[in-house]
Amino acid sequence: MKGPSVVVIGSGPSGFYTAESISKKLNSNIDIIDRLPTPFGLIRGGVAPDHQTTKKITAIYSKIAKKEQVNFFGNIEIGKDISIDEIRKIYDVVVLAIGSELDNKLEIKGSNLKGVYGSAEFVGWYNGHPDYVSLEPDLNTENVVVVGNGNVAIDIVRVLSKTSEEMINSDIPEYALNSINKSPIKNLYMVGRRGPIEAKFTNVELREMGNLKNCLPIVNLDLPSKVVGNYSERDQRLIEKNLETLKSFSLIEKNNKEKKLNFNFFQKPIEIIGNERVESVNFETTKLEGTKLKSTGEINNINCGLIISAIGYKPKEVPGIKISNGVVKNNNGKIDKGFYAAGWIRRGPTGVIGTNKADGELVADLISKDFKDQNKDGRKSLIELIKSKNLKSTSFENWEKIDSYEKKNAVEPAPRKKILTIKEMLNLCNI
Ligand code: NAP
Repeated sequence: MKGPSVVVIGSGPSGFYTAESISKKLNSNIDIIDRLPTPFGLIRGGVAPDHQTTKKITAIYSKIAKKEQVNFFGNIEIGKDISIDEIRKIYDVVVLAIGSELDNKLEIKGSNLKGVYGSAEFVGWYNGHPDYVSLEPDLNTENVVVVGNGNVAIDIVRVLSKTSEEMINSDIPEYALNSINKSPIKNLYMVGRRGPIEAKFTNVELREMGNLKNCLPIVNLDLPSKVVGNYSERDQRLIEKNLETLKSFSLIEKNNKEKKLNFNFFQKPIEIIGNERVESVNFETTKLEGTKLKSTGEINNINCGLIISAIGYKPKEVPGIKISNGVVKNNNGKIDKGFYAAGWIRRGPTGVIGTNKADGELVADLISKDFKDQNKDGRKSLIELIKSKNLKSTSFENWEKIDSYEKKNAVEPAPRKKILTIKEMLNLCNI
């Protein structure tokens, strides 16, 4: 290959789309590095275990990984095993596609109490992410509060509401399924600090909450009859759909479904109360003046034994990277000549999986303008560096071994039984 040597750090959607775009534009070797032994980032560890159709996108990423130009190096953490400086010294082009993997924390009194979790850790727990399999959240409570009105909040209340029969096609680990099934959860509260017009969840995800076997959605709010605000035609249509769906929820006759999902709007969390463990949470009623959120002084308390905040994400600190306003300092994808960013680390944690495709194209364009030829030998030096540091890296073939083992061990119709620790993954691959 004569084109610049390229390494993409992170093997989630933005990493794979970037590798694909570069492979179409440049005659380059492209290496994809991930800190986990397994590829696919949020598709494996973030997308809900019952949304298997969404996870099928990995078939496309696998084709990219198998392109002659592309190599996968798993179980290598950039910033820890290999520094940013070291990796920049051996590749012409380094693309950061590391996402935003940490929770934005609720910055209110009591948020450090036991029983309060962020969505990254809670979702990681029910998705069998090696970082969070030992979280052991105590679900021995009737009432659960999920703070936030985005799709992650919806994912969490849905996974906590579905029956084991509804999860039968999922790859939720047994420990999480058992813990949810055994729990006495009856009332779920999904609480937004603004209203139904401003909610961030999308309609397909919202509608699904009306079709659950054992959970009744409850909306107790006079819903606005029209969308007020400065929205594009498309957004206006989408908001109208959400309002229709919420209206349909408010008209469902009360039934004897065991679980209730309460949609609470205009409630801002102000304090979590408890001795050691969370016992309740205070919300203050808000109102909107234009786009400004105003407090009203009215306080409402919800008793609960578990709070999950799903209020967005921030990137992990990596030595050698400057984070500002929740993204790496960059100019439309360029950090520096030879150093680029794509996906959530470039633009923040928004959009859908496909949004990352445009990110990949943007970065590939920048790179093909900045570089024509190879100056640094990239892959060869990476392999030497891995060897000299005694690191244990996984290849895409290793991942395929893990993948087929997980599939083979699944109890039908579950698609896979995930391996839960890095140690077991490496053992399986004799690494
Ligand atoms: P999100 O869509 O940005 O939603 C975050 C929510 O948290 C908003 O309702 C926000 O309210 C609220 N919030 C933020 N700070 C808060 C605070 N201090 N107190 C109370 N509420 C607060 O983020 P997300 O749900 O984490 O999703 C991230 C991205 O992944 C989104 O683009 C999402 O669509 C995508 N995703 C998609 C799917 C899917 O397609 N099925 C599934 C999961 C995730 P304000 O609006 O008032 O700021």
